[in-house]
Amino acid sequence: MDDRFQKYINAIPAVADAAALRETFWLNDRMVPAERQQITAVTPAQIEDARARLERFAPYIERVFPETAENHGLIESELAEIPAMKDYLNNQFAAHITGRLMLKKDSDLPIAGSVKARGGIYEVLKHAEDLAFEVGMLRPEDDYSILAEERFRSFFGRHTVQVGSTGNLGLSIGIMSAKLGFKVIVHMSADAKQWKKDLLRSRGVTVVEYQDDYCAAVEQGRKNSDLDPMSYFVDDENSVNLFMGYAVAGKRLAAQLEAQNIPVDQDHPLFVYIPCGIGGAPGGVTYGLKQVFGDHVHCFFTEPTQACCMMLGMATGLHDGVSVRDFDISGKTDADGLAVGRPSAFVGRVVEPMLSGIATIDDHRLYDLMRALLDTENTFIEPSSCAAFAALIRPADLETYIRAQGLEDKMSQATHIAWATGGRMVPPEMREEYLHTGL
Ligand SMILES: *Cc1c(COP(=O)(O)O)cnc(C)c1O
Repeated sequence: MDDRFQKYINAIPAVADAAALRETFWLNDRMVPAERQQITAVTPAQIEDARARLERFAPYIERVFPETAENHGLIESELAEIPAMKDYLNNQFAAHITGRLMLKKDSDLPIAGSVKARGGIYEVLKHAEDLAFEVGMLRPEDDYSILAEERFRSFFGRHTVQVGSTGNLGLSIGIMSAKLGFKVIVHMSADAKQWKKDLLRSRGVTVVEYQDDYCAAVEQGRKNSDLDPMSYFVDDENSVNLFMGYAVAGKRLAAQLEAQNIPVDQDHPLFVYIPCGIGGAPGGVTYGLKQVFGDHVHCFFTEPTQACCMMLGMATGLHDGVSVRDFDISGKTDADGLAVGRPSAFVGRVVEPMLSGIATIDDHRLYDLMRALLDTENTFIEPSSCAAFAALIRPADLETYIRAQGLEDKMSQATHIAWATGGRMVPPEMREEYLHTGL
């Protein structure tokens, strides 16, 4: 290992754990109260802009994806209590969850079956709108269901959308872009599952495969796109648009909690746990939730031990200046949606004053948790999603945080939300394989 990185191992216990490939739980000592969080890179007005844009597109989405009719073209998922899973975690891991445990089922999101149906689809819609506005084919006050007409499809067909992906982002960008009529090229890293490539090809998407990791796929995609003036590159490493698509979840979740009469306030803290790859999805959701609930929401990211890039980036303060490889960590994990070796260039900096901490989890546990959720709640989510339980199964570390926040006597009134980030699109034969993995 490069000497430059040894000092972080010596100084930061969570980094030492990570480098030794041990599960760990880093608590963020740079978190400050809401009124002292000075964030300039993004603004709440941008979330509102994204929310309004998704509303404009709702008639179109409802028309071309009838599965969204229930929510009138809004791509949204259920928030469900999972009491039997809570009992399992308490019994199996002495998790000591005394409040309510819920699952945010982005695993069932329409169209793409993962959290990427928020950010990925949003960015494609925004790009389509920008193009159509530019040539005067569309105005904000139009009924956007006209976008399904052939004249729009042939207009978008002159343009290309490209993206680098470990799988799920490619699915959401690919499916949405192809539906609008764009030419689409998805650059897939070696981690991407075969069925995701097959599915995209069946929708007319060009899939380019790389024997290398995610960063390499992104790099090639960006280069390829830059050569073509008619091509747009969805840049997961830097994209504010993706981030805003995810951030819209904040107000939507608040409305769901309210509809279920679940309070979030000083006496009723909300704990949210979100699996993290490059950081856009968990970062955007966290930023959105913090705008609504301020200090009453406590957000944690969760990562595989083999791809804990955000934890390393934030704990060292180096952000995208560090890769898991710098600590001789492989970046290879069964949690394909999280197989990212270098964190986003801006997400870590944005969430630095507001994130509570990051827990890491070994791959083998993901399968046990996946089977447990299926047994206890009859709910299937993909292995990457199961990382959402990483913090809850480390009760001693979570207690340290709870005590530091002075929340000990509030926890029986707390709500915990594990954010299930993917699952619905996994084909039956893959589910069967997962169910027998590591037994
Ligand atoms: C992409 C993904 C995440 C994390 O999103 P990032 O923006 O990469 O941090 C989590 N879970 C699943 C299933 C994903 O596909």
